[in-house]
Amino acid sequence: MPEKIKLGISTCLLGGKVRYDGGHRLERFLTETLGQFVEYVPVCPEVECGLSIPRESMHLEGDPESPRLVTLRTHQDMTDRMVRWALKRVVELEKEGLCGFIFKSNSPSSGMERVKIRNEKGMPVKRGVGMFARVFMEHFPLLPVEDEGRLRDPELRENFIDRIFTLKRWREVLAEKQGRRNLVDFHTRHKLLILSHSPKHYREMGKLVARAKELSLKELYERYQTLLMESLGLKTTPRKNANVLMHMAGYFRKQLSSDEKKELLEATKNYRQEYIPLIVPITLINHYVRKYDQPYLKQQVYLNPHPVELQLRNHV
Ligand code: SF4
Repeated sequence: MPEKIKLGISTCLLGGKVRYDGGHRLERFLTETLGQFVEYVPVCPEVECGLSIPRESMHLEGDPESPRLVTLRTHQDMTDRMVRWALKRVVELEKEGLCGFIFKSNSPSSGMERVKIRNEKGMPVKRGVGMFARVFMEHFPLLPVEDEGRLRDPELRENFIDRIFTLKRWREVLAEKQGRRNLVDFHTRHKLLILSHSPKHYREMGKLVARAKELSLKELYERYQTLLMESLGLKTTPRKNANVLMHMAGYFRKQLSSDEKKELLEATKNYRQEYIPLIVPITLINHYVRKYDQPYLKQQVYLNPHPVELQLRNHV
């Protein structure tokens, strides 16, 4: 078994009874499906900063850029306590080698976006970021983050999983002796995956790799990592994927019969029009890659970016 991907997660999503009312918010996809490939590092900001279970519920209040964390009934301000703890906790988390974080949505401590911010009368007036989530994202700006609500959307789920699996492979490259050859190999295997997320980054990263010898190793790795995470942060679309599929079809120009070409073209067109899922043309191409032993495509992560058990790429 390959080493599992390490992800931070809000403890209540794993079923931990840590919520203000002593309950949890277990997400079975995360524990049972994704959990097969992931080792979670649970974090409950409210309990870990010293609050009890059960406890008074809290909300964000005041200036959306720097709201206060305040208890609902007795109006105690927990902001300083939470921020002090969060600043220490993110430093501890550096040692974990996380490839991402899954936050609990809507929580004033853990929510990564669209958390209600209320005025002094308790009326929701704006949306913002939970207190710990903000400190975490500022400390790890390139780490993939999502919340359990957004992960129910198949496209966002796929995108997040693309990013964490790629970051894990990239970390393996970093763990080896750094050298231009390793980086070029990694880039070669990920070219089509990058193209499916961002043609602009694909071109930029191609230029960077071509100039690899002109840069110091440190600069090369840093710039490559930034572009890699930026590119994968952009969502794939049927148009971008169809472009990659057509690109791959070009490798079989000489081998496919006219019937096979027509079938592949039709599958690509039907996918692009969102009549069939991406897995259909991908399965066809994987079949041709095996049949004709196409050396360049055989190594492309794009064709098998994550385990089939995750059932991705099969939505329209
Ligand atoms: S949302 Fe965050 S702070 Fe609240 S119980 Fe879950 S992990 Fe703890």
